[in-house]
Amino acid sequence: MSLLIEHAHCNSITQFNIEGDRMIVIEGAGIAGLTLANCLEIQGIDYRVIEQASEIKPIGAGIAVQSNGLAILQALGLEQDVTGCNIEKMTLAGKYFRQELMPDKGWKVKMVHRATLHHALLKNIPSSKLLLGAEISSHSSTEDSVTCHLADGSDLQGNCLVVASGIHTETHNKPYIRDSGQWCWRTVISGNAERNEGGEYWFDDFRIGVSHIGDGDYYIYQVAKTAQQITEEQRLVFWQRDDVRARFPFLDVKKAVWLSHPLTERRIDWGQGNVVAIGDAAHALTPNMGQGAVLAMEDAYTLATLLNTDYSTDWNTLAEQLSALRHQRVKGIQQQSWLFGMLAHWSNPITVLLRDIAMRLSPTDAVLRQQITFFDRFIARMAPLIPDERQRLSQ
Ligand SMILES: Cc1cc2nc3c(=O)[nH]c(=O)nc-3n(C[C@H](O)[C@H](O)[C@H](O)COP(=O)(O)OP(=O)(O)OC[C@H]3O[C@@H](n4cnc5c(N)ncnc54)[C@H](O)[C@@H]3O)c2cc1C
Repeated sequence: MSLLIEHAHCNSITQFNIEGDRMIVIEGAGIAGLTLANCLEIQGIDYRVIEQASEIKPIGAGIAVQSNGLAILQALGLEQDVTGCNIEKMTLAGKYFRQELMPDKGWKVKMVHRATLHHALLKNIPSSKLLLGAEISSHSSTEDSVTCHLADGSDLQGNCLVVASGIHTETHNKPYIRDSGQWCWRTVISGNAERNEGGEYWFDDFRIGVSHIGDGDYYIYQVAKTAQQITEEQRLVFWQRDDVRARFPFLDVKKAVWLSHPLTERRIDWGQGNVVAIGDAAHALTPNMGQGAVLAMEDAYTLATLLNTDYSTDWNTLAEQLSALRHQRVKGIQQQSWLFGMLAHWSNPITVLLRDIAMRLSPTDAVLRQQITFFDRFIARMAPLIPDERQRLSQ
C-alpha cells in the first residue's frame, strides 16, 4: 500500500515510504493519539499523526497517572521518562470527614506535569510521522480504506482513521456535551515545601486539589459550582481565608497564571467501521476520578492490540470491536466521576452532614480495594503489543 499526499495548491504529490502493508491515520497529537503512535511504533505498523497545532504545547497543569496508566507507560518503555511525584499520601477531606489513601496498600499514583508526559510520549515518534499544522477537515471511507481530506487541500489515505482530536471534535459525529454546571481553574506554582502528598479538600463554596508534582512544583485546581457568578477577585479571596492559609502555608497563589474552563462530559461514541474514536473524542468525562487521560491511554493500547491480530484486522468493524471491549468500563467510570462531582458540591447543611458521615463511615481500605480492582482489571488483560512476545511469555 502507498500513502499519497496530494497537494492541491502546488499540484504536487508527496509519496511516503510505507513500512508495512497497513497505514493508520491518527487525528490529534494529544495523550490518546500519541499513546497509539507509540504502540504502533513498537508494533511496526505504519501511521501518521495529523495535528492541527503548529507546535505541541501542553497546558500548564498537572495530571494524576494511576496504576493503569503507569502499566501502559511501562509497556511503552517510557515509565522512567515520566518523572514526577510518587504520592505517599492522598487526602480527601470535607467539613466532617477525612480519608487518607496510602500507596502501601497496593495503590499507586504518580502526579506529573502534563508537559513531562507529552515529552515522554513524543520521544520515540519520528518527526516524519508527525504532521504539525495539519488539520483533517473531512473524510470518506470504504470497507478497508479511508481518505482524509486535509484543510490545505491535500489527501491522505489509510486503512482506518483514528479520531483522537478531543472533546469538541465533529469528525466521527456531532458531539453531545453535558455541562456539569461546575467551573475549574488550574495552575502550577512553586511551593516552599517538598511533600510527596496530594489531596482534594471540600469547602463550602469551592473544592480545591493540591498536589506536589516533583521538584517543588505544585499542581493546584479550584472548582466552583456556580462559577459564572464568581469574579476573579471573589475566587481569589478564598485563598486568603484563615482555614485555607493554615492548611497550605507553603503555597502562594498571588502570581499564579490560571487556566479556566467548564467541566463537561461527552456522550460516548466510538465511531463506526474503520473510523474509530478514542480518548476525549470518544468519551470525555469530568475529571473527578482523575481517569480521563489514562482511559485515553487504555483505549489506544486496546486498539493497538486489535490491530495486531496477525494481520487479519477486520477494518470494517474496528469501532464496534473497540466498543465491545471498552464501553462498559468507560461508561461506569464516566458515571462515577459525574456523581462524585455532584456530591462534592452539595451545599445544604443537612445533606452535607449526612454525606460526610457516610464518607467517615466508609472504610478507606474498601475504597482503595475498589480502586485497585478497577486498575488491575485492565492491567491483567493487557495483551503484549507484539504477538511473538506473547508466545515467549507463555513458554
Ligand atoms: C480539569 C481537568 C483535570 C484533569 N485531570 C486528569 C487527571 O488527573 N488524570 C487523567 O487521567 N485525566 C485528567 N483529565 C482528563 C484529560 O486531560 C483528558 O482526558 C485528556 O487530556 C484527553 O486527551 P485526548 O488526547 O483524548 O484529547 P486532547 O488532549 O484534547 O487532544 C486532542 C488533540 O487533537 C488536536 N485536533 C483537534 N481537532 C483536530 C483536527 N481536525 N485535525 C488535527 N488535529 C486536531 C488538538 O489540537 C489536540 O492536540 C483532566 C481533565 C480536566 C478538564
